[in-house]
Amino acid sequence: MVGAPQALLPYIHERGEMMDKRLRDVIDAIDYYELLRMKKDLESGGHHLKQFLGEEIKKRQMMHQVLCSVCGTDIDPYSTSTSTLMFGPDDFKKKATFCGKDCLEYFIKNMEGMKKASSPKTQIDSSQV
Ligand SMILES: [Zn+2]
Repeated sequence: MVGAPQALLPYIHERGEMMDKRLRDVIDAIDYYELLRMKKDLESGGHHLKQFLGEEIKKRQMMHQVLCSVCGTDIDPYSTSTSTLMFGPDDFKKKATFCGKDCLEYFIKNMEGMKKASSPKTQIDSSQV
């Protein structure tokens, strides 16, 4: 029996490879001189790039999430029933916001179902985001 056709392989690979594909798209969108600058920066330790990415990640983590991660309802920033969950390793923190306890519980139940070998560090913020 032969495996999947060669053309389909990029789409059925693990998540890491899908991310490579997206990185490919990003790099395609960067102009030539910027690429040269990035390469030069990487060759000298990548300090500029590291700092840039670090700031961008922090900014996005701070950004208020406006939709419930489970049901997609608008999050009322003044509601006391909303909650935000941070999970994942320190260098790849993910953030999910929920409109209420039901959605939070649903999410956690599902997360346990797809839990991987590494145990995720979780931390629950207070509800007044
Ligand atoms: Zn919800």
